[in-house]
Amino acid sequence: MKYGELVQVYEDLGATTKRLEKTAILAEFFKIVEVEDLPKITLMILGTVFPSWSEEEQGIGDKLVMKAVADAVGVSVNDVEDAVRDEGDIGAASEKLYRKKSQMTFFSQALTVDFVFNQLRKLATISGNRSTSKKISNILELLSSATGVESKYICRTITEELRIGVGEGIIRDGISQAFGIDKAVAERAHMLTNDVGLVAKVAAESGEIGLKELSLTPGKPVKPMLAQLSPGIEESILEMGCALCETKYDGIRMQVHKNGDDITLFTRRLENITLAIPEVVDMIREAFPNEDFIAEGEVIATRDGKPLSFQHILRRVRRKYDIEEAMESVPLKVYLYDLLYFKESTVDEPIIKRRELLESIVSTNENVELSDIVQVNHDNIFEAVNLFNKSIDGGHEGIMIKNCSEPYIPGVRGKKMLKFKAEPETLDAVVIGGVKGIGKRGDFIGSYLIALRDENDELRTLAHVGTGLSDDDLAKLTKLMEENKIQEKGTRITVHPKIIFEIAYSEIVKSPEYETGYSLRFPVVKRIRKDKGLEDIDTVERLESMFKG
Ligand code: AMP
Repeated sequence: MKYGELVQVYEDLGATTKRLEKTAILAEFFKIVEVEDLPKITLMILGTVFPSWSEEEQGIGDKLVMKAVADAVGVSVNDVEDAVRDEGDIGAASEKLYRKKSQMTFFSQALTVDFVFNQLRKLATISGNRSTSKKISNILELLSSATGVESKYICRTITEELRIGVGEGIIRDGISQAFGIDKAVAERAHMLTNDVGLVAKVAAESGEIGLKELSLTPGKPVKPMLAQLSPGIEESILEMGCALCETKYDGIRMQVHKNGDDITLFTRRLENITLAIPEVVDMIREAFPNEDFIAEGEVIATRDGKPLSFQHILRRVRRKYDIEEAMESVPLKVYLYDLLYFKESTVDEPIIKRRELLESIVSTNENVELSDIVQVNHDNIFEAVNLFNKSIDGGHEGIMIKNCSEPYIPGVRGKKMLKFKAEPETLDAVVIGGVKGIGKRGDFIGSYLIALRDENDELRTLAHVGTGLSDDDLAKLTKLMEENKIQEKGTRITVHPKIIFEIAYSEIVKSPEYETGYSLRFPVVKRIRKDKGLEDIDTVERLESMFKG
């Protein structure tokens, strides 16, 4: 398929904000794509060439792409920067610059989807000596054969921001419409496989019957089931009737997969952290039988048997070098709490059954334990309160309250699993801009513009925050902001939404100054949530209900 055909679909999708229209455009397109190409095409419509669980990512900075565009069009990097400032993103800037130089592509051969896809995958593998210039020539190879509008989407795919307003949900609906599949069937197949490309291919090849056979596969991470805040221990338990209450450990959520001899560890964002914490692989091997499984638990850092703060475990999983040394200085411990697969998928079983099975197969030891748990109903709510107090005394975060009879629903944040913490509520918000500091903080971005998500997944500004960050944090954040920069005007900078802050505050107040219509009094950055992504930030809806509450 010619890349130009895909680009036309991008343009059509970008030209409407209506979900139904986008779905119809995709449905028509999927019908004409070769079945074998569907996985590739769906990834590219998501603006990437790697599945979300893949360890590989594009990871190319805007600067490098700007240099490639400058070389392709024959202008200076400053000219490209000016165009980016005018147009708002590097893709649109590139298209504009191409328009001025339209004769450039006159003799070149049309790009194919395969070529673009392979070239972009290759780009991610370039490292080592002279990697910058090799990357630029890789991008140039693409750009020199591209038309203006193609260059727009090549740049946007490289910088991982396609701007066509299509997520996995719309693609899934497009698949349903194209191949006459019941939406619920497509949704379930997607939920279990976490692979919209595979869903597209199976839907085209064998319809609903094929999709119904899809299930979890050990080795391939599933989106975790997420928790909502509990309004109160008693209220939540009364509502559920029967609840499993568990200690809430303040660590990193870990999905453990055993597939044959391989054990793989994923974070809640489905990043593979196996190499960073190799001792956990050995601990798991020791604790489980030699069967394929998928389990979930929390991995925490400890010292003298006591939990260390979240930052310690975060540093461990980010570490790439001197791992042996870190293993000694920051010992880890695993608390298991769920089982998603054992010989077969167990997600449809209620938590109480999954827990029983987990208990029956795991041999605990001092490094691998099962989460502390009590089963409660309206008669013994005090046991949940006791567990909560014990959790706080033990240096943990609070408790989880899980509805006894509920299955595991990947990727969904619902009322079936709740969290109750000791500390006041915080908000997870994304940084979309910043202001350079003055005085002592002159070299740093001292104030960060944060935003939440609205019901259409658009980002809405909420507040500026600068308190709570150490000089070291500020230096690192300033560097990150530079790397993510979209635009700079005077002391203000806008960035791609990649950094997540957990914000504490004294009060939510109404404010016309920010797009949410609210702001925060005395906001403080409690921590930088490297374990969370854009999909995890809080919504304007939650903010509103917190304000009213
Ligand atoms: P939060 O990160 O505040 O959204 O809280 C939900 C997180 O609590 C989950 O994603 C897990 O990482 C973590 N957690 C800690 N202990 C448990 C537990 N016993 N059961 C489920 N999740 C837990």
